[in-house]
Amino acid sequence: MRVVPISLPTPFYIGPVNVYLIAEDPLTIIDTGPKTKEAIDALRAGLRKAGFLVSDLRRIVLTHAHEDHCGLARSLRDEAKNAEVFVHNWETGHRHSRLEYEEHLNLLVRAGVPDDEIEKMRGLYSHMRKYADSFGDDEFTALWDEAELEFESGSLRILHTPGHTPGSCSFLREADRTIIAGDCVLKRITPNPVLSPDPINPSRRFPSLAEYMVSLARLRSFSPTLVYGGHGEPIRDFEELFHRYFRAFQERQLQVIGLVPKNGVTAWDVALKMFPKVDDVHRFLSVSEAVAHLDMANSEGKISYELNGPTEVYKSLA
Ligand SMILES: [Zn+2]
Ligand SMILES: [Zn+2]
Repeated sequence: MRVVPISLPTPFYIGPVNVYLIAEDPLTIIDTGPKTKEAIDALRAGLRKAGFLVSDLRRIVLTHAHEDHCGLARSLRDEAKNAEVFVHNWETGHRHSRLEYEEHLNLLVRAGVPDDEIEKMRGLYSHMRKYADSFGDDEFTALWDEAELEFESGSLRILHTPGHTPGSCSFLREADRTIIAGDCVLKRITPNPVLSPDPINPSRRFPSLAEYMVSLARLRSFSPTLVYGGHGEPIRDFEELFHRYFRAFQERQLQVIGLVPKNGVTAWDVALKMFPKVDDVHRFLSVSEAVAHLDMANSEGKISYELNGPTEVYKSLA
């Protein structure tokens, strides 16, 4: 099975995104890049180099529905006529581009984010939406955990690896223990468990960090020899990376617990203390990180929390 990585430019801080062409029948691309002229041009060039055209694509598979990964899905599908689009059912929020509505607002209010900051985040999100089209429920095929994507000479096993987003998926080629992991595993940075409504019960928040740790342990159980991430170079030393992530999470846990006083703080307060200088999308990501770690510390009984009106307040047990 020939896996051809293609790097595409993005207008985002993260830099280029990796998409993966599976150069075999039925011709399949995993992730698409953002909806920009630069990305589609680079994708065409990458496909051409491998001997293909966009119109040859039969399957468009998404690791998750962030704009840098799914933005071109609709354009590619339309150009390739009857190409089929695959994404996990739990990517609902992103698929419908309705993150900025009620459920998400509710999560930000609970995290103690002030109104003017919520407005800024909304503005930012409507800007991001330009880089992707949303998909209706009847326009994609659901990816199922443990199902196989069949190819002429073998298959890729679908692994539902939630955490970065609720519906994030990875793809395992068992023959040589290669995994295409999207943003679940990145070489140089620790992936963010992004604040998301729970797809099963959207009035609740998805336990992103706890889910992420389970997903990482699951990937580790396959002893991967090569992991292709959504950004940066491939990873050949997954074991080392796993331990590095684990240490980083433990350090962050201790830091977050240390920032929770007896008289209480919100996730917003903790985010400001952890990352005093960040702005824009990083402000949202820092709130995501604070919430994820506070949730984890609370579920392990290390801090307590209560509601103060609509806002969650965390308190030290010490
Ligand atoms: Zn992502
Ligand atoms: Zn990404």
